[in-house]
Amino acid sequence: MDGKFLDNDIEKVVDADRAHVWHHLIQHAPWTGPDPKADPRIIVEGKGMRVWDQKGKEHLDAVSGGVWTVNVGYGREEIANAVRDQLIQLPYFAGSTGSIPGAMFSEKLISKMPGLSRVYFTNSGSEANEKAFKMVRQIAHKRYGGKKHKILYRERDYHGTTIGALSAGGQDERNAQYGPFAPGFVRVPHCLEYRAQWDLSGEEYGKRAADAIEEVILAEGPDTVGALCLEPVTAGGGVICPPEGYWPRVQEICRKYDILLHIDEVVCGVGRTGTHWFGYQHYGVEPDFVTMAKGVASGYAAIACCVTNERVFEMFSDDADDPMNYFRDISTFGGCTAGPAAALANMEIIEREGLLENTTRMGDYMLDQLHALMDKHEVIGDVRGKGLFLGAELVSDRTSKEPVAEKAVGAVVADCNAQGVIIGATNRSLPGFNNTLCYSPALIATKDDIDEIITATDNALTKVFG
Ligand code: PMP
Repeated sequence: MDGKFLDNDIEKVVDADRAHVWHHLIQHAPWTGPDPKADPRIIVEGKGMRVWDQKGKEHLDAVSGGVWTVNVGYGREEIANAVRDQLIQLPYFAGSTGSIPGAMFSEKLISKMPGLSRVYFTNSGSEANEKAFKMVRQIAHKRYGGKKHKILYRERDYHGTTIGALSAGGQDERNAQYGPFAPGFVRVPHCLEYRAQWDLSGEEYGKRAADAIEEVILAEGPDTVGALCLEPVTAGGGVICPPEGYWPRVQEICRKYDILLHIDEVVCGVGRTGTHWFGYQHYGVEPDFVTMAKGVASGYAAIACCVTNERVFEMFSDDADDPMNYFRDISTFGGCTAGPAAALANMEIIEREGLLENTTRMGDYMLDQLHALMDKHEVIGDVRGKGLFLGAELVSDRTSKEPVAEKAVGAVVADCNAQGVIIGATNRSLPGFNNTLCYSPALIATKDDIDEIITATDNALTKVFG
């Protein structure tokens, strides 16, 4: 860190933040009001896996920018230069036009997604999901007289912050105060075997959890259900990996009832789960829609997209004489060229540096280390994840699986922070799934980085739980 931002002006920055910035996801009381007890945290610089805050303190970032985003790590001049060059050449043009980086990134992306063919650019993960929802609704109108319009979503999955995306939100604590929601969204059960809803295990459990989706389809009426939207591995809802047998059955059910399959890769996408570019590719699934955001450009520019197969695309391009027969939708900032320029450079880095392979290697190593922590700390009830996307669920009793108190999870996160390692936790506030520590280091992580994260967690668990 060169410290250039840590001159006397940093106090002014902190004052301005305290006075005017409304941070995401947090209660502000500790640093606002007449007698503040703490300072807001401001991150001023990053390099590789490390970031520095306004006090000059170094942190190992085990959550890729807080929310699973900075996949290739900080300080990538190659991405910055690609964005700079593109901005000087042409920063923006939108409407019904294309751009050079938009076309070149799309070609590259599609080369990693066999069976899919079209990229629709948007601003955020929420909006990418909204695009897919809108396409499903329009297909229902065009093909099925509006009837096949329902969208199924799963308990514990999250698809975004807008009222439409929250209508497909499976985390009650995130929805509780924001209704009423949009009609036509129907919930199916989660598939976390650790908190089993059926007395089965392994593959049989996976098939049963998928059968529960079919039960919902039958109850709603298959001719009313247009799509099923799922995360490949549930992220903020508890780091939930699907059991064996789940995905093949899900695919079978979608085919049986002619239901479009929408995979939300906002967290899992672009290498996060290792070996493959996308989470669904571990399970041999053939989706109709794939939405993505966070890691697409590792946060160097805002970009998200909704990718579809040709079957979906053709439903909007088949009858050119019908003036209503196209996707009547736009995202203003879908016309920013910085996003695809950054995303293309991001993919080139992942390929050149072998980061998909590194993610698998380091993810397996980290999973082993978390299992070793589980042997040591009774409070860890379950460890799960894929690639560099891992969770450790904390319970006060391994038999009853009673979650530890929310405050205790917060104390572990805070203690890791104090040790200079930033980790995360699943959404807290309602009992049941409020208790999972989350890890998503950048895909460049080394064994030493992981050892440091594990040591901090070990110390924090000892401190908080003894
Ligand atoms: N889908 C998933 C799985 C997510 O985790 C998120 C964000 N955490 C979103 C969608 C929404 O993305 P955004 O915040 O970019 O709107």
